Amino acid sequence: MSEYVERVIAETAKRNPDQPEFLQTVTEVLHSIAPVVDAHPEYEKAALLERLVEPERQIMFRVTWTDDEGKVHVNRGYRIQFNGALGPYKGGLRFHPSVNLSILKFLGFEQVFKNSLTTLPIGGGKGGSDFDPHGRSDGEIMRFCQAFMTELQRHIGLHTDVPAGDIGVGGREIGYLFGQYRRIRDAYDNGVLTGKGLAYGGSLIRPEATGYGVLYYAERVLEHLGDSIKGKTVAVSGYGNVAWGVCEKVRELGGKVVTLSGHNGYVYDPDGVVTDEKINYLLEMRASRNANIRMYAEKFGLPFHEGEKPWSVKADICIPCATQNEVGMKEAEEIVANGTKYYFEGANMPASNEAIAYLQEHGVVVGPAKAANAGGVAVSALEMSQNSERLSWTSEEVDARLKGIMRAIVDSSLAAAKKYGHEGDLVIGANIAGFEKVADAMMAQGLF
Ligand code: GLU
Repeated sequence: MSEYVERVIAETAKRNPDQPEFLQTVTEVLHSIAPVVDAHPEYEKAALLERLVEPERQIMFRVTWTDDEGKVHVNRGYRIQFNGALGPYKGGLRFHPSVNLSILKFLGFEQVFKNSLTTLPIGGGKGGSDFDPHGRSDGEIMRFCQAFMTELQRHIGLHTDVPAGDIGVGGREIGYLFGQYRRIRDAYDNGVLTGKGLAYGGSLIRPEATGYGVLYYAERVLEHLGDSIKGKTVAVSGYGNVAWGVCEKVRELGGKVVTLSGHNGYVYDPDGVVTDEKINYLLEMRASRNANIRMYAEKFGLPFHEGEKPWSVKADICIPCATQNEVGMKEAEEIVANGTKYYFEGANMPASNEAIAYLQEHGVVVGPAKAANAGGVAVSALEMSQNSERLSWTSEEVDARLKGIMRAIVDSSLAAAKKYGHEGDLVIGANIAGFEKVADAMMAQGLF
């Protein structure tokens, strides 16, 4: 293993002692790309890795807003402009009480390689706030978004930095954020945010894109291994946009989703959780802001597994779609013991590095987040293209492009893994393929 890689990991740990999530992804990515770094001594001379792990710019700001009772609240806002070598910084905004610098730096770092894998011209960034949208009224959400954008607007732009949604930020929030941007800037730059509503420059397929993308990726991997989604059982965590897109596509491809989960537990139905009988209720649940998976379990008389994650359930494929680090060693052991063949990540970094290594050592095919869930940001980049040409594409066109991009990510990951002696390893392959392009661009652009 490259000494240079180990030195940069150690320096990163020293410089960021209180950022475990960020160190987790830096360690994982840098170990994977060590063979490429060893083959390019010029990278060390140019301090390429030291530059890669240090965000180009980190913005932190105060967000002051007033709740419905007139009480004034202060939250912290962030935008991490991680790496702009390939294009404007691009990545979502997360509103969740767990948000801090470590979480946003891990997400921003992942985003750099994910965006590179899409082959579209976008750099990597991430942002958000420790604001908790749970239980807040529509008016409170609007005032928070307006206060957040009042500061953020001076740091973003359609050629500089293009935020979108993530956990806690969906179509409603993007609408309020865009409204405030437009009000302050007095220009219709709708390419400054993606995930917009269709009426003001959003793209068809964007809400479903991450989930559909996971399945297009999975379909290509299974095809490569002489297998198919048809007839497979699938365990899914989460029930947000990503999980929903996964559910729809699994159903279309002839598989069966058998679990869904929320923050408080999961529901399991071996007959399928998204059947004709249940789909209308699920759609109502998605439309309502107060619904949760327990209500769904009660409605259909299914047991609700309080406080548990769905990974002890027997399934051919596992697709975590909730949040980071929900699969540790215990869950990885359960997944292996259940005879699960495939594990694809819909959420960002849902598993620890040790859990991923354990799954791979025991023959589970792992499709890592930065490759498998790249469909969301890929369609965001297609939304930027449509905004630039002031046209809207049909859903068939967007969907066909999404599918092409996801299949190409599998192929480029396999090719990169093979080139460096790790044939068939989609984790190492994704890291190397994503890194190669960023490294080329950074080397070409000189010291910066
Ligand atoms: N938050 C999503 C992700 O993790 C999408 C980001 C975007 O569309 O810019 O990739």
